[in-house]
Amino acid sequence: MSIVASNYSQVCDRLRRACESSGREAGSVSLLAVSKTKPAEMVEECYHLGQRAFGENYLQDASDKISALSHLRGLEWHFIGPLQSNKTRQVAEHFDWLETLDREKIARRLSEQRPQSLPDLCVLIQINISREPQKSGILPEALTEFAQTVASLPRLKVRGLMCIPEDTDDEARLRAQFNEMHALWTSLRGIHPDADTLSMGMSGDLELAIECGATQVRIGTDIFGARG
Ligand SMILES: *Cc1c(COP(=O)(O)O)cnc(C)c1O
Repeated sequence: MSIVASNYSQVCDRLRRACESSGREAGSVSLLAVSKTKPAEMVEECYHLGQRAFGENYLQDASDKISALSHLRGLEWHFIGPLQSNKTRQVAEHFDWLETLDREKIARRLSEQRPQSLPDLCVLIQINISREPQKSGILPEALTEFAQTVASLPRLKVRGLMCIPEDTDDEARLRAQFNEMHALWTSLRGIHPDADTLSMGMSGDLELAIECGATQVRIGTDIFGARG
């Protein structure tokens, strides 16, 4: 078995076990395979193992892979990196999801640039849950109004929330941040029923994120190996 194949099956096992031990249905958590900086061949290999959703952070790197793999049916591309407002067109035209939406200007541009021939662009609102000043994402108290603005724009669909928690080994702090995300998401769903996605958890903390209610985990290193 190749490295990607054995890594992938281990990650799928971890997901299943984490669902089981937190009393959640297997299949209630989806896997986003984060393929940033990794070659198209690795994505294709993972596709043939059954994976469909891939996450990318860098537009040039992603565009090359998206065109190289356009023969594969049912691939779903998620942009998960920071997005500058002069680069929105590439996301509007080539991606299925944007997971890092945190500015109205970006939302308006994406809404205008999303081609009529494509389905609505699915968006996750990024929350700065650790309230670190240098970090992307909106603050929790700004969510209701921001979600309303985004939901009013054509060609975008608010699918939920995403966060990158504080970079810490302190499990109690991480748990508090994941729990707060879950509470925010629950209240968002009361107003926006299409918001079915809570994206949190990476290679190092996927079990905790699932225990706290994640519906999507984003895994790079543990599938494709360390990045250079
Ligand atoms: C790189 C990245 C991931 C994946 O991280 P790993 O630790 O490699 O699993 C997840 N989410 C975002 C936003 C990332 O940039």
